[in-house]
Amino acid sequence: MFFRLSAGATVVAAAVACAPVSKLPEIDEVAAKRERDIQQELAFRQFYNNSRRVHAITYPLLMAGADLCGEQTARGMGLFIANKHGFKKDYHAAAAKVGLGDRLAVAGVAPGSAGERAGAREGDVLLSINGWPVPEGKDAGDKLKEKLAEIGKAEADPVLTVRRGGKMVTLKLETDVVCGYGYTATENPIVNASADGKDLRIEAGMLRFLSDDDELAAIIGHEIAHNVMDHIPKSQANQAFGSVVDILFAGFGVNTQGAFGRLGGAAFSQEFEAEADYVGLYIVARASRKIDGAPYVWRRMALDNPADIKSNHAATHPATPHRFLALEKTVAEIKAKRAAGKSLVPEKQDPASSPAAPAPPPQ
Ligand SMILES: [Zn+2]
Repeated sequence: MFFRLSAGATVVAAAVACAPVSKLPEIDEVAAKRERDIQQELAFRQFYNNSRRVHAITYPLLMAGADLCGEQTARGMGLFIANKHGFKKDYHAAAAKVGLGDRLAVAGVAPGSAGERAGAREGDVLLSINGWPVPEGKDAGDKLKEKLAEIGKAEADPVLTVRRGGKMVTLKLETDVVCGYGYTATENPIVNASADGKDLRIEAGMLRFLSDDDELAAIIGHEIAHNVMDHIPKSQANQAFGSVVDILFAGFGVNTQGAFGRLGGAAFSQEFEAEADYVGLYIVARASRKIDGAPYVWRRMALDNPADIKSNHAATHPATPHRFLALEKTVAEIKAKRAAGKSLVPEKQDPASSPAAPAPPPQ
């Protein structure tokens, strides 16, 4: 997307200045349209696969953290359900190629989820749920969400009738208890992920930056922990403004230079970042993912933001050396608990021995 923007800007600039003097290749417009369709399809497939991947990694973490989420729990099926209307118009033709039309269909089944246990499969087309015919078209997704909320309120379990190939299949789901956060993958090229107390957001740039699913789980675990630990409401109470922006950006490779934090005072943002690292890694470990690589994700982010390496622990922006060392200790703590057969519960501060107040905001 950056590419297209800058290319456009170049053309405009050249037209204003003077015409090119080189003999350029002539482009056939029919071929150009064909190439546009190819690029459109590739862009869709990348976004679609990113969305499916984020679903497959995030849902098990929401299950694993459920007992830490208190009143924020919900019941989930672990199914990524979509039709073509969930995507922008430019993508509808490409969506048809992966089987997405007007009807809602299963686009992903999270490992270990209620959907997987019930035998749901990718490509299953939704016909009815608890006898209610699932609508098709533009608003079908929203209507299904309303119906699921209704079923949840009645404490019933969903029974889906799907079409698989030429056959009708009935799926009886025993729903999972999960942390009730929404999550979404974006097409934004920045290296970032964020939590707003309710939902999680993983930018495309972050997916490209991370080398495998365990690393992605480490980042998503960190974001879930921000929501689990109520960091957003607390920091809003602690700071007049600026807090949300700081939590969204701090430490994710987007160099905000601490500007947002300084605006709002940033009394707690560093402690919250450290806590999200700590609790997040427990959630990741509970989902049986490898955690050894997590500290190295932050070390690599330091290469993207060398300015963060220098900042000390009293600065606004989280210092990456502290982050790396704290995560290494957390990995060791979790492994020791595993070896001793103990349950993976994050340690709480002992109110008698801990320093009562957090450090004052930097001057
Ligand atoms: Zn964070």
